[in-house]
Amino acid sequence: MSSVTVRKVRKSFGAVEVIHGVDIDIADGEFVVLVGPSGCGKSTLLRMIAGLESVTRGAILVGERIVNHLPPSERDIAMVFQNYALYPHMRVKDNMAFALRLRGMPASEVEERVGRAAEILGLAPYLERYPRQLSGGQRQRVAMGRAIVRDPQVFLFDEPLSNLDAKLRVQMRTEIKELHQRLKTTTVYVTHDQVEAMTMADRIVVMQDGRVEQIGEPLEIFDRPANLFVAGFIGSPS
Ligand code: ADP
Ligand code: MG
Repeated sequence: MSSVTVRKVRKSFGAVEVIHGVDIDIADGEFVVLVGPSGCGKSTLLRMIAGLESVTRGAILVGERIVNHLPPSERDIAMVFQNYALYPHMRVKDNMAFALRLRGMPASEVEERVGRAAEILGLAPYLERYPRQLSGGQRQRVAMGRAIVRDPQVFLFDEPLSNLDAKLRVQMRTEIKELHQRLKTTTVYVTHDQVEAMTMADRIVVMQDGRVEQIGEPLEIFDRPANLFVAGFIGSPS
């Protein structure tokens, strides 16, 4: 695991600036939740950390290293998306093994890593199935499995539960937290759901319109919101 630093980061698309100078320090092993209304820049920030978007100004560091110009594959970061992005024509085990094989990892180690991730996620009975033969929750676990097998320094989650029904969402929150307690991998988790943020985060980063409004532990933010926006947003679950 590794710390992640977002330092005076700005992002423009064409002439329009959408991230206006953001500073966030994430400690080794911390679970940080970025929360804010739709369009406030959460995904853009996460994608810059992942290397899927360029950084217009400022710096992103993983550990001590500035990664602005490193391609995603060299950042030692694994990202889990909202829409799973599983390969429909590949069995679960091959979905999980794909990125490792691409890197030329020996077959025996690939098998070992896939087996271990499947055990952690309760996917061992489903390794031979295709994604269409799985429930929504199982698919989400496969998407997490693909991240875990890489044994990255950092996990990034972009609204991973928003396609699931309410009951499953609550269950998966617990599973993701348990996973974090087990692996202790530094995690940046994006959601627009205040309850998800309050229940999962070590620290919450509240964003609005491309700016950070407040950073703090859930109770601290709940009890002492920095301004009316934070008070209204955290105080009124949608
Ligand atoms: P969130 O994830 O918080 O909903 P986004 O990071 O997706 O917000 O978007 C932040 C802002 O940046 C929005 O105004 C969005 O329209 C804009 N934006 C995001 N991606 C692009 C893009 N590729 N080109 C132009 N504008 C974009
Ligand atoms: Mg988004």
